[in-house]
Amino acid sequence: MNQEFYRSGHRPTWAEVRLDRLVHNYQLIKQHVGPKVQVMAMIKANAYGHGATPVALRLEQEANADWFGVATPEEGLSLRRAGVTRPILCLGGFWHGQEPDLLDHQLTTTIFRFDMLESLNSTAKVLGKRARIHVKVDSGMGRLGIQLSELEEFLQTLSRCSFLELEGVLTHFAAADDPDKHDFTLQQIARYQTALEIFSSQGLTPPLHHLCNSAGTHAFPEAYGNLVRVGGMFYGIAQDSVSPLIPLLPVVPALSLHSRIILLKTLSSGHALGYGCTYTTTRTSQIATIPIGYADGVCRAHSNHGDVLVRGHRAPIVGRVSMDLTLIDVTDVPGVTLGDQVTLIGEQEGKCITAEEYANRIQTIALEVTTSLSERVPRLYL
Ligand SMILES: *Cc1c(COP(=O)(O)O)cnc(C)c1O
Repeated sequence: MNQEFYRSGHRPTWAEVRLDRLVHNYQLIKQHVGPKVQVMAMIKANAYGHGATPVALRLEQEANADWFGVATPEEGLSLRRAGVTRPILCLGGFWHGQEPDLLDHQLTTTIFRFDMLESLNSTAKVLGKRARIHVKVDSGMGRLGIQLSELEEFLQTLSRCSFLELEGVLTHFAAADDPDKHDFTLQQIARYQTALEIFSSQGLTPPLHHLCNSAGTHAFPEAYGNLVRVGGMFYGIAQDSVSPLIPLLPVVPALSLHSRIILLKTLSSGHALGYGCTYTTTRTSQIATIPIGYADGVCRAHSNHGDVLVRGHRAPIVGRVSMDLTLIDVTDVPGVTLGDQVTLIGEQEGKCITAEEYANRIQTIALEVTTSLSERVPRLYL
C-alpha cells in the first residue's frame, strides 16, 4: 500500500491549481493584445472553480493584473475583504440594497437599466462619493445590455446623474467562437460602433471600450478596443470555446483533479457493479473504488462513460457514478495497488485527460466542468 495515502489524514480527493501557470497565461495574453490594451482576468464563479482569492492575489502580486471581472457584488466584496486592491468590475450589475457595498469597496459596476442609474446616483449622493460605472449595450445577444433604440434617452438620464462617473462602455459577443457566424459577430461590432457614436453625440467619452471575451480575443483583434475580458483562455481551457480555425496561444491548463484507490477487489466474470446494476463484468476483473462522486462535481453522465488515469494507463469508469463514490476497471493497469493516485483531469506519467476531453464526453464545455467542482473538493495550490 502507498504510505502517503495511509497517513494523509484527509479524504484523498483534491484539485491541484498551479498559480504560476495562470500568471504565465495572463502574461501571454497581455503580450498578444499589445501595450495599448488592458486585460481583465475573469474570476467570477470562484475563478471558474480555481479559487478566486488565491488567483487574484497571485495575479495582483506577480502579473500586476489590470482588472478583475466578477459576476456579482458579493464576489467583488469577498475579494476586497481578502485584500485585493486592483480594479474590479461586476459584470452582472447589482441588486437594490447593494449600492453602499459598491461605493464603500470601490467596486465598479455594469449598468443596463434606467433604475440602476437612479438608485446608484442617489446612494452616491448620500455617501458623498462618486460611483464608477460601465454601460453595457446589447449589440445582438439579447441578454444584458441597453438596446440601441433606448440608448439616447438612457444617456440623457445618465447626464443628469452627477454622482456617477462613466468609465466604460461594453458589449458581449454571442458567437465569436463560431466561424459560421462570423458575419453575426461583425454585425455586433458595427452596432457597438454605432453605440459609441451615440455616446459622443451626447458629449460623452467613456475612456474604456471593451467587447471581447476569450473567443473575441482569439479571433477579432479589430474588436479589442482598449480592454479585453478573458476567462477560458486565461485558465488554459479555451479549446472548446474559441474558433477552431485559428491556432490557440500556448496557454496551459492550471487545474487538475485527483483521487486515490481506497478499495481494490477481484471480481469474477458476470458480477454486477453499482446502482441499477448497469454494468456486468465480462472477465475476471480488478475493480477499484475511488472516493469521488456527483456531489464533488463528477456528474452522473460519466456513468459507464470515459476514462481516468492510473499509473499512466487509461482505466474506464464502470457502473453508475454515485454521490460520493465511483468504480473504475483497473484490470489492465500493471502493478495497480491500494492508494494509487487516480487522475480524472490532468497529466499523469506523460498521459493526459484534458478538461475539454472530460467535458466533450458528457456533451458540455470545460468551463462548466471546472465551475461545477464542489466545495467538498479541496483546492491545493502549487
Ligand atoms: C464570463 C464573461 C467573459 C469571459 O468569457 P470567456 O469565454 O470565459 O473568456 C467575458 N465577458 C463577460 C461579460 C462575461 O460574463
